Amino acid sequence: MFRQNKRRTAGRKNFEPSIFQGVTQIYNTRLSFYDIPPIDEITLEEFETWAIDRLKILIEIESCGLRSKSLRETEQVIKPLLLKYLPLNPNPSSSASPPASVIAERKKDHYSHFILRLVFCRTEDLRRKFIKNELVLFKIRYNMLQPKEQREFIAQYSDKLPWQYISQDEKLDILDDLFAATSSTVRNSLVFESGDPSFTISRDQLYQHIQKSEQFIKLPFEKVPNLVASRSVLLRAGSAYIPSTLQLNLLSIEYQDLLTTSLIRTFQSMPRLEEDDRLLPLLNNLSANSSSIEYDMSSKFDAENASDINAVSVTTPAVMKHYPMCATHLQGALMSKSHLKYQGRQQLQLFLKGIGLSIDEAMKFWSYQFTKSNSGITMEKFNKEYKYNLRHNYGLEGARINYKPPDCSRILSKPKPGKGESHGCPYRDLPLDSLITNLNEMGVTDQVDINMVVDDVGRNDYTVACTRVFEFTHKQELAKSKATSSEGMHINHPNLYFDRSRQLEKSS
Ligand code: SF4
Repeated sequence: MFRQNKRRTAGRKNFEPSIFQGVTQIYNTRLSFYDIPPIDEITLEEFETWAIDRLKILIEIESCGLRSKSLRETEQVIKPLLLKYLPLNPNPSSSASPPASVIAERKKDHYSHFILRLVFCRTEDLRRKFIKNELVLFKIRYNMLQPKEQREFIAQYSDKLPWQYISQDEKLDILDDLFAATSSTVRNSLVFESGDPSFTISRDQLYQHIQKSEQFIKLPFEKVPNLVASRSVLLRAGSAYIPSTLQLNLLSIEYQDLLTTSLIRTFQSMPRLEEDDRLLPLLNNLSANSSSIEYDMSSKFDAENASDINAVSVTTPAVMKHYPMCATHLQGALMSKSHLKYQGRQQLQLFLKGIGLSIDEAMKFWSYQFTKSNSGITMEKFNKEYKYNLRHNYGLEGARINYKPPDCSRILSKPKPGKGESHGCPYRDLPLDSLITNLNEMGVTDQVDINMVVDDVGRNDYTVACTRVFEFTHKQELAKSKATSSEGMHINHPNLYFDRSRQLEKSS
């Protein structure tokens, strides 16, 4: 996948064609343990965009994990994103081999996984994070497979999986012991599958189910220390007997072992890659963004969305209720003090520009706020000292760059606000009592909810705290609205918070 040496003859591939033979076989099933590295050539653009698309999914999974979402809740968030960024369609029943469009999806999935291995192999922490999130992705995708596809997947890797299904005769021989050891596990999985927490099944019905329908897997007990410790398996003569409802756990253990070894190997081969002058900058960029991807501002704020954003409306509750805490805090400081210091002005001016405040309306808003009442700033002083900077942010002065609003990681990378300053992220910068007051003002009053936010802040997970607050303050809209690809999105940009909040209001 990456350059072996720096010389390349135009029109010739870097690898011999014989290497490609049989590679497409790995795309026969839509799920993979990624045990065969890609060797085909892709463009640099594909290299970057495929990796970014997978990174978006992993970041969302990470965010769900940090907000203690269950696998089922995480699935609800991730499935629409998978459809958008990394779809994996099944083979059409009419054709024996997957068509080109399906192979293209699987190829993207395959390559993006290996590219992110290069990004995440560099430190122990990154490796742990990658493995954890890839495992969740694997579980979500495995649950999306048809039972037939699950069997095909297991058959494909049967030589790598140290287990075997026991025969019906063997099961009946030890049925009472199996029932005693595993009935509660089987019952829990039936409740989970039903999706109904009040689902009940009598002891006799459960016994019948295990006797007739449940399959059991036998494998060396040392392969499943966690299941042995939690007493959810039957132990006999050095073997553990596991209900097939726990099959996914077993697959995850195998996948985890495989990924751990592979990431170490990737790390060991990094020095070779560092000779590649094309990929290294891309990998460094991906590595720098491994916990957040820039929010795409393009096309978010069309004329219709921004039609009600003007110098007056931005101070009204109807618009301000969509602000994240950083914007509320900044605008509150501006309106009460009739002034903001440079960093705060930059942050709020660009946020307001991002929500659709035009330069003319911005000029009215800022000049009014700075010159009102007893601020001591005249219009003449405003024009002399502040007007140029505002026009500069809109790309109308100096180098005429159309500046974008900063995302959370940029805001958090700036020095904390000093005395009299209000920029930054309040989750990081406010003292605890002020933070709680702000949370109360946003409508977060439940002590359990507040404790969760404070815990996130204690772990320096400020964007997780902000995403959690978004969910607390939009509970009803989120419950009413249909799942869309943007609903589960982790907040990594103040304008994403605003945009999502308004979208939810419009759709509910
Ligand atoms: Fe603003 Fe981002 Fe902090 Fe939320 S996490 S308050 S959007 S800077």
